[in-house]
Amino acid sequence: MTARVLVVDDVPPNVKLLEAKLTSEYFDVLTAFSGPEALDVISREHPDIILLDVMMPGMDGFEVCRRIKADAATAHIPVVMVTALDQPSDRVAGLEAGADDFLTKPVQDLALFARVRSLVRLKVMMDELRNREATGASLGWESEDEPTLDVTAPTDGSILIVDEQERVMERIARALDGVGELTFMAGGEDAAERAREKNFDLIIVSLTMRNTDGLRVCSKLRSFEETRHVPILVMVDDGNTKLLVRAMEMGVNDYVVRPVDRMEFLARVKTQLKRKRYADKLWENFHLSMQLATTDAVTGLYNRHYLTSHLETRLQAAQSSGKALSVLMMDIDHFKRVNDTYGHAVGDLVLKEFAVRIGKNIRGVDLAARYGGEEFVVMMPETSTDWAFMIGDRLRQEVGENPFDVGAADGPLTVTVSIGVATSVDGQSPSALLEAADKALYEAKESGRNQVIIAEANRP
Ligand code: GH3
Ligand code: MG
Ligand code: MG
Repeated sequence: MTARVLVVDDVPPNVKLLEAKLTSEYFDVLTAFSGPEALDVISREHPDIILLDVMMPGMDGFEVCRRIKADAATAHIPVVMVTALDQPSDRVAGLEAGADDFLTKPVQDLALFARVRSLVRLKVMMDELRNREATGASLGWESEDEPTLDVTAPTDGSILIVDEQERVMERIARALDGVGELTFMAGGEDAAERAREKNFDLIIVSLTMRNTDGLRVCSKLRSFEETRHVPILVMVDDGNTKLLVRAMEMGVNDYVVRPVDRMEFLARVKTQLKRKRYADKLWENFHLSMQLATTDAVTGLYNRHYLTSHLETRLQAAQSSGKALSVLMMDIDHFKRVNDTYGHAVGDLVLKEFAVRIGKNIRGVDLAARYGGEEFVVMMPETSTDWAFMIGDRLRQEVGENPFDVGAADGPLTVTVSIGVATSVDGQSPSALLEAADKALYEAKESGRNQVIIAEANRP
């Protein structure tokens, strides 16, 4: 997974050094030597990740970071602060300015690649979700509120800590006091299995447990469906580089080195919780937008767009397996009169009730959609013309014989429906099938309404 990384530092040798390291790992590197130049490159090139020096004359790194995060066009680009001062408070200040991570100079290879890779993974996922949301919007739905990664929002969440040492757990509990709901688990080979039972927002795993293989716990967490997307933060002893490399390769999101700096630990935990919340919100919006993009708001049935795309898939499957697929094209009779007599709102209630009646009369595998104003289509896989006719006629009767109680002044309304039935023939396109059903529907209207007519090609 490669990416375009922008390196910003006022000291050219520092830039050269990072550039060389990143290039050797096949990253594409862009460079800038001051804050204003960085902002210029960012707006033109949209890098995937920014490595930003804190101490620069003129506009310092904090200010550059704040500007990146304040601009909606660039706020989603991860920023890693590179600080020369070995001051934990400086790192925390960076995170508060909106930075996504930090590195200390001299930058160590492992830390550099671990942080950059983890952020690239994060960005790929975020970009995917943002794209899907854009697709949802192009299908006719607009997002009400685009979620943002708000770095100043208070964090909380449920955190699982896996460690065998009680002393460590107590220290963690103190460090994370008030950050969220903590659950402690004293190691054990089944730690990952037990983690599936609850929706954690973050899992912290010690990689230096005596009786439990922390790496194995991490790899299992990554493989289980329920925990695959939960961020993992590992704790390792200083100097245990090999273990850390394995963990990062496994997709662990972040790490802290023992002895753990309390401020840094807290900052990293909070960052992971914020990202998790942001990702959750994106997922939620995505599902909502998919739902809204595929369903009709009045009736709750699928919309025409969904029907036509799904029909194409089902029709191909039917034709290649030699099975029959039938459709019902339905149109409420004299529906205009309902609107004219009782108003549009009552008309809407009739449409809603009609959708309910359809739902009661079709099978689970059938798909009902609102095709137009008062036109509906039911797609029925593996259904012969005879069966489709029978189902259509049963629905027609049910509708005609049981008036709709929609609160009209003069009591329940008698509603009737005309239906055209068509069954796919070899090589037929979805639109040709729908057209055949529509023709049959037209005949049903012409010959008196409240009846079901089979398409010409399907008549015995
Ligand atoms: P026919 O028996 O020939 O189908 O007659 P009809 O009156 O049902 O057909 P026509 O196509 O003349 O009129 C359909 C009416 O449906 C006109 C339109 O205002 C109404 N309509 C379309 N969409 C909606 C809707 O979402 N809500 C309501 N209340 N009415 C709608
Ligand atoms: Mg009508
Ligand atoms: Mg009509």
